Amino acid sequence: MCVGATGAHRYPGNEGVYQCVHPNQGGTTSHASSLTVAWLFVFCSCHMEVTVTIIDQLAHIEQTALTALSEIRDAETLSEWKSTYLGKQGSIAKLSRELGTLSAEERPAAGQRFNAVRTALDSALAERESHIRTHALQDAFNNEAVDVTLPGRTPVMGRLHPSTRVLRMITDIFAEMGFQVWESPEVETDTLNFELLNIPADHPARDMWDTFYIETPPGAEKVLLRTHTSPGQIHSMRAHAPHPVRVILPGKCYRYEQVTTRHEMMFHQVEGIAVGTNITFSDLKGTLVGFAERLYGAGTKTRFRPSYFPFTEPSVELDVECFLCKGNGCRVCKQSGWLEISGAGMVHPDVLRNGGYDPAIHSGFAFGMGPERITMLRHGIDDIRWFFSGDERFLEQFV
Ligand SMILES: [Zn+2]
Repeated sequence: MCVGATGAHRYPGNEGVYQCVHPNQGGTTSHASSLTVAWLFVFCSCHMEVTVTIIDQLAHIEQTALTALSEIRDAETLSEWKSTYLGKQGSIAKLSRELGTLSAEERPAAGQRFNAVRTALDSALAERESHIRTHALQDAFNNEAVDVTLPGRTPVMGRLHPSTRVLRMITDIFAEMGFQVWESPEVETDTLNFELLNIPADHPARDMWDTFYIETPPGAEKVLLRTHTSPGQIHSMRAHAPHPVRVILPGKCYRYEQVTTRHEMMFHQVEGIAVGTNITFSDLKGTLVGFAERLYGAGTKTRFRPSYFPFTEPSVELDVECFLCKGNGCRVCKQSGWLEISGAGMVHPDVLRNGGYDPAIHSGFAFGMGPERITMLRHGIDDIRWFFSGDERFLEQFV
């Protein structure tokens, strides 16, 4: 027996340290319970043999486990702790194998004690798990907090193409003057695109208006991409004759030509036509001057110059005073002080007839303009190729 000294001993399956109890300190008497039959023989630092009970070891394991548990701060260490004390190879499981050494009388009480310790450790483990989880959540809240005061990210919004914007501006102005929008096909027959507009096969104007042809069977009529929105004049007149018609015809047109800073193979036009009785050149002038003032501001100076188009007679070009230099001359107006924005004229009698009207009774005017040209003039754009390049650096400037 160990006498007069206190030693520290490590027990099988127990990661903790057991404080040796000596007889002269009342150790042996404290072991004198009904559960002290199974004695374990160990050696204290004084190399003297001491005996401790299973219950003593169990109490020590419980105390050590609870102390270790209270210091655990993360789930990984908690898992290790669980394995160390409550696992199949853990301290308690190993010690419980000693129960067989107890007498039949002592075994039930010892078993109850084991169960009580297991329950206590399970309960403490659950509590610690909850504690760690709560703290982990709180840490996440603190570290990954969303700052609701930060301004949001502005989504990238699409916008209308500059040609579409100007087209809509033009149609709005003419709508206020009672013009309806009339949509006409982009694929036309040679007859509608040329013949019915006074441009027969041998007409020199065809040299300027070559286009893309669609393959058709031999002998069939030529089908092509329209070179101008003017075929819409025939479509709209035939749909309304002999009643008055007042429409604008916006849309894409195509030309087979070399692409340069001034020419594209695809572009937009807005055509307009008004046919009825007693329509005169004054109506044409009033309409276009009103349009120019709406587009460039009240008091905008305009002038009409004689011109030629196969499908109008007489024909004119409409110029507006250069809004950049106010008529003094600049690079955009090529020092002339004027900008050409539209071609126009009185509808040719043959064209009226082709549209289903009697030139002896009906008369009308027609005009056409290019949204890209108007946009180029408004913004000083020097290359038409920008419009359909798909380059966002160009497009995003038009808000
Ligand atoms: Zn100018």
